[in-house]
Amino acid sequence: MVAGETLADMFRRLIANHGPITLQHYMGESNARYYAANDPLGSAGDFVTAPEISQMFGELIGVWLTDMWTRAGRPAGVRYVELGPGRGTLASDALRVMRRHGLEPPVHFVEGSAALRRLQASAVPGAHWHDDPGSLPDDGPVLLVGNEFLDALPVRQMVKTAQGWRERMVDWQDGRFLPVSGDRPMDAAVPPHWRDAPDQTVIESCPAAAAVVDEIARRLARHGGAGLLIDYGYTAAQTGSTLQAVRAHQKVDPFAAPGEADLTCLVDFAAAAEVATVAGARHLGTTGQGDFLRALGIQTRAAQLSNVAPPQSSAIRAAVHRLIDGDEMGELFKVMGLAAPGWPDGAAF
Ligand code: SAH
Repeated sequence: MVAGETLADMFRRLIANHGPITLQHYMGESNARYYAANDPLGSAGDFVTAPEISQMFGELIGVWLTDMWTRAGRPAGVRYVELGPGRGTLASDALRVMRRHGLEPPVHFVEGSAALRRLQASAVPGAHWHDDPGSLPDDGPVLLVGNEFLDALPVRQMVKTAQGWRERMVDWQDGRFLPVSGDRPMDAAVPPHWRDAPDQTVIESCPAAAAVVDEIARRLARHGGAGLLIDYGYTAAQTGSTLQAVRAHQKVDPFAAPGEADLTCLVDFAAAAEVATVAGARHLGTTGQGDFLRALGIQTRAAQLSNVAPPQSSAIRAAVHRLIDGDEMGELFKVMGLAAPGWPDGAAF
């Protein structure tokens, strides 16, 4: 980076000197810049996540993790690991529930943003931080969660052209960034069943998400533990670009202002489950967020909270609706459960 240069300036300089950059590079740098400086969460920010909607979300994750640990025989030396903890809200709600059951694990966060690390430190005093999952402790069981982490990792896209498959790149033309197809033949990088797809077909993969899932699945396989990965995504292979940008709760053009909006893609849960299984973990299942939270008793918890604070009951009802209804987060958001080979089946799968 040249001092004082915006991310858009840097991309223009790179493109002027070396030609179009890959979409993967564009998305990775954009999100690194976006999260480094901002707290994007909540109603005053760009988007609202499930733990920020209600404490019930983190509490029920805590219930699930505690249940796994208990049925695994309450092994010693377990750690709580969270990927991309945002403001630390999910962790603080989950850890509160775990404490009530005598489970007080050391806390390890994977977080790239200095701004968010500061918020996490006040929500969860005593946490340890990691830039990526590769440096997480590797000598004991883990209870892991990641909510809306994988969707922020950069994707690679291939597009079918009349000349064959090409990587999707980002160019600067006529005063704006826009996607173009690269020059290099990429047919060998495309799975055989897509090779003869019609022209303009786009396929997406997320090497960074695969690397994260592989890393955590290996730890589960070696030392025990269980985890939940929650995100919006799909469970059967599909084509088409799912790249989107959100700013101030509105969808915006992902190429308009790199580094100033959150760029996300849908998570390919079929690919994630395959990576986890190959790495030696058990895939407990992938289910809709609505079914998952219903099975763990969100309605009962909502009734308890309403009894304690009757004036809050309509807000609590609204939060339940947002978290579990099919036309809100209930179906688009998926929960994937993973565990070590010797660990029990997960509740709700
Ligand atoms: N889990 C939180 C926040 C979701 S936003 C919630 O549900 O509210 C995505 C989170 O992942 C942020 O904390 C962001 O800083 C972090 N993050 C995104 N990309 C990352 C990367 N490549 N490495 C480490 N952390 C990353």
